[in-house]
Amino acid sequence: MAPAPCDRPGAWTTGLESTVNETTQHTATEGNPTSYGFCSWHQRFAGGVRLIDVIEQGSGAGGAQYACGPCRELHGLVPFADR
Ligand SMILES: [Zn+2]
Repeated sequence: MAPAPCDRPGAWTTGLESTVNETTQHTATEGNPTSYGFCSWHQRFAGGVRLIDVIEQGSGAGGAQYACGPCRELHGLVPFADR
């Protein structure tokens, strides 16, 4: 009388569908308040940068200048969107 090999719940076959549902729950990327980027004023990457100015350099790649919070206060910069 050998026991039937059913001590495993067999979750590795039915678990495929449940893992798909789990990944959809992790949507924590909404309303990103701080944007990480390169600050053109102190020449470093910083969080919470805002677009200050867009520079058109002839034909081709135009430059965008971003400034972080402290640099905006220090230099009295007004973000491009707030003008
Ligand atoms: Zn800065």
